[in-house]
Amino acid sequence: MDGIADIDILPTLLVVDDEIVQRMIVSRMAEKMGYAAAAVATLEEATMFLRSRDVDVIVLDLSLHDRDGIELLRDIARLRRDPLIVFISGFDERIRETAARLAVALGLRVAGTLAKPLQLDRLLAIIGEAPRVMARAAKNRLASLTPAMLEAAIETGEIQCLFQPKVSLKDRRVVGFEALARWYGPGMGVIGPDTFIPMAERHGLIDRITVKILDSALAQLHVWHAIDPALEMAVNLSPCSLGDLKLPERIGEILHRNQIAASRLVLEVTEGAVMADYISAADILTRLRIRGVGISVDDFGTGHSSLLSLLRLPFGELKIDQSFVRGLLTDPDSTRIVRAVLSLAASMGLHVVAEGIETEAVAQRLTELGTETGQGYLFAPPLGIAAATAFLHGEVSVA
Ligand code: C2E
Ligand code: CA
Ligand code: CA
Repeated sequence: MDGIADIDILPTLLVVDDEIVQRMIVSRMAEKMGYAAAAVATLEEATMFLRSRDVDVIVLDLSLHDRDGIELLRDIARLRRDPLIVFISGFDERIRETAARLAVALGLRVAGTLAKPLQLDRLLAIIGEAPRVMARAAKNRLASLTPAMLEAAIETGEIQCLFQPKVSLKDRRVVGFEALARWYGPGMGVIGPDTFIPMAERHGLIDRITVKILDSALAQLHVWHAIDPALEMAVNLSPCSLGDLKLPERIGEILHRNQIAASRLVLEVTEGAVMADYISAADILTRLRIRGVGISVDDFGTGHSSLLSLLRLPFGELKIDQSFVRGLLTDPDSTRIVRAVLSLAASMGLHVVAEGIETEAVAQRLTELGTETGQGYLFAPPLGIAAATAFLHGEVSVA
């Protein structure tokens, strides 16, 4: 894979082309126009890349050695990515048109098609506008979201969840999934939880989202229990919900409705959430625990809570925050923190999950240190139902 920089700030363009010269020309040009450009030569690499991060524009050569670029379109759709696609091909007009039609049928956005040899001015015209247009569209889109739209979205089922596998680090078996919320609004692409969860919390809509996510996650878990009855489902709980004293009963009903044993549900709460209203949180979490529901401390290590008050609560699991996991091989403090968390957890009989594992080297190190469970792009990103089921069946590619 050729170089890539500042991926979080700049719009990203991925070139998929088996000709090195063309890869270089397109990525150089993209960089000049303000993209972070990456280039890959094969479909496998492209799929890998898309599994790990979102891309704003894909410039796709339709004739890659022995395979055709059309397969990648299905992967893009399955991974629920939403890039602008530009086709390049040495084939005739008809093939490019067929590819464009297939892309549209899969719900993908096609920005244009180009013939080989590449007309650079045309490529420039297609992708040159894109960064500005996208930045503007994204800004407008987010600015125009209202609580009323969110409320309607909850009712019409536009809030759905993806499922990220949790695997046993020793043998890489799937032990469960974490449900992560997404908003799929028509014409809006995918809106992430960091955008709409805070709005839901501010406008009293979070409990309805929690119920929807719990209901659909547990219904799906019921289906997956036919494959493996030991699987667990983790659902994130908003700090706002920890003030709702009726929560344990309502969760009990949802478990009952979906025929799921309480011990198969794990609720993830952040340290800060618990500390905001300790008495109410302790009441609710203890009653949930008595029912048999697992309680996990999310983003462990990032809060400023007193360890003591935290450990008096009925937690069964600690999730080491991504920031320590990412720094494991480079930052001595991260290693010390991970070691300390593991020994604390062992002495308290708590289960440990490391999240945000992106490389094999980090997974190895965590395994050596004795971490039981891992989660991260190395294994799989959050997946739709079909891809998650395939992953569960041990099909290596999640696409
Ligand atoms: P979180 O609970 O800490 O979830 C982990 C986040 O890290 C997810 O982002 C996930 O997609 C991402 N992630 C997973 N593996 C990797 C990796 O290897 N590298 C990197 N860089 N990131 C990874 P996502 O889905 O955008 O969720 C963001 C946050 O939104 C979640 O953080 C959670 O706090 C909140 N959230 C998501 N769904 C819900 C929900 O249904 N209810 C509530 N209350 N909060 C939710
Ligand atoms: Ca979580
Ligand atoms: Ca987390």
